[in-house]
Amino acid sequence: MMPGLERDEAPSVIRHSEISDQRLWRLLRTQKIRFAGNRKLKIYGTLSCTSGRRMKRENRVFFRSESEAVAAGYRACKRCMKHPEALPSDLS
Ligand SMILES: [Zn+2]
Repeated sequence: MMPGLERDEAPSVIRHSEISDQRLWRLLRTQKIRFAGNRKLKIYGTLSCTSGRRMKRENRVFFRSESEAVAAGYRACKRCMKHPEALPSDLS
């Protein structure tokens, strides 16, 4: 644990409301961000997911990788994240 990074989310979570458009654009262009998530629903998906595009900016977060999203406690979006070969059978 690094000091100074205590918050209610994993430090790797990038909140849309906390970064500038310029920085976001740069991260997207360099493919540092690959996935978007919804803080309220705790769901992540692709950046082009239709349900992701509609959410409010303050609810939107970004991830560099899928494992980061999973580590932060997010679940895969059922619309755009289909990995039949990687998913274990439904645990719920
Ligand atoms: Zn989706």
